[in-house]
Amino acid sequence: MITGHFPIARFETLETPFYYYDMEVLSDTLRAVNTERSVVECSNAPFNVHYAIKACSTPAVLQMIAQAGLGADCVSGGEVKAAIEAGFAAEKIVFAGVAKSDKEIRYALEQGIFCFNVESMEELEVISSLASEMGVRARVCLRINPDINAHTYDKITTGLSENKFGIPMRFLNQAVELCYRLPEIDFLGLHFHIGSQITDMEPFIHLAHRINELVAQVEQMTCTDHEGKAVHPVVRHINIGGGLGILYEHPNHFPIPDFKSYFDTWRTHLQLRADQQAHCELGRSIVAQCGNLVTRVLYIKKGENKQFAIVDAGMNDLIRPAMYGAFHRVENISHPDKEEQLYDIVGPVCESSDVFVENYHIAAVQRGDLLVMRSAGAYGETMASQYNLRRLPGHVIS
Ligand SMILES: *Cc1c(COP(=O)(O)O)cnc(C)c1O
Repeated sequence: MITGHFPIARFETLETPFYYYDMEVLSDTLRAVNTERSVVECSNAPFNVHYAIKACSTPAVLQMIAQAGLGADCVSGGEVKAAIEAGFAAEKIVFAGVAKSDKEIRYALEQGIFCFNVESMEELEVISSLASEMGVRARVCLRINPDINAHTYDKITTGLSENKFGIPMRFLNQAVELCYRLPEIDFLGLHFHIGSQITDMEPFIHLAHRINELVAQVEQMTCTDHEGKAVHPVVRHINIGGGLGILYEHPNHFPIPDFKSYFDTWRTHLQLRADQQAHCELGRSIVAQCGNLVTRVLYIKKGENKQFAIVDAGMNDLIRPAMYGAFHRVENISHPDKEEQLYDIVGPVCESSDVFVENYHIAAVQRGDLLVMRSAGAYGETMASQYNLRRLPGHVIS
């Protein structure tokens, strides 16, 4: 069995389970993103990439991403704060989320973030009135629900009309009119997000065409500003959301996601003028492959027809398999060369869904072996809980 490279002697001295971040993988990934986003054609500026903090907010990881020049995509006041503390410039921070509280909006306005991705007309009015109280202006993009199927897991589609996210397309013109009527609001453009873990470029092509139509629709409008003057809206910023997926099956062979296809797809299909800028929000594709959950085998249990490898990590440490039916490759790094056997790899939590993988071939394990769950950098540590009063896994940096 081929495994990744891990400092096993160092792991042996640490209490398991814990997350291990390989900063070399992260830095290679960031280099690839920066190369691919900057291929400048015509007079267009490079894509602005905002890293989606919710995927992994471990400070050392955030700092490396900020240093690479990326912006931040935040979905709570806590994330805006973490982004600023990690060194992301306020003018590169965007703030999305269906239910921003007044306190979160005030905090983001105080910090002078680049823009709010606004998800309803009510929210526009609230942001405007809070900005007015504070004597500041608020820059906004409207998050439009484009009703496009991302063909990913049901629980991670966001751009279908049945999802709670964004403003329905039929209210787009009304929302743009409201932006111009409200005196504190600066309308920057449009925002979209159709889901996560998308590896097929087809949904992105579909979305690009939809965006081209919607931008044209908005720019044909005539609005009235708060002084009663006629204005023609201009869409200067187009934010195409996140969603690029990774290959969970192949962390060793394909550790760097296909950023080239992703950016080439947008360059080919999204119409951008020289006065327009494209933004995207990548979370998973930046951090998934640099993170691993390291765990120790506690017991090998023979069931009626099955063999269980019971490990000391549980669904509270890594919930993706239980929540989304997601797959993480598991490797035995203590004895990688033993003959493979069939196991269900399960955790200690008192829930039947505390299963990492079923009917899985792995180099034969024994009590005390260290296993790694690969590709766990995104939505791993950030989703950990203390369910069953277990300790939080914590992390180690390479
Ligand atoms: C979660 C999220 C992202 C990141 O999605 P990934 O699939 O992890 O890249 C981007 N934008 C918004 C608005 C999000 O909520």
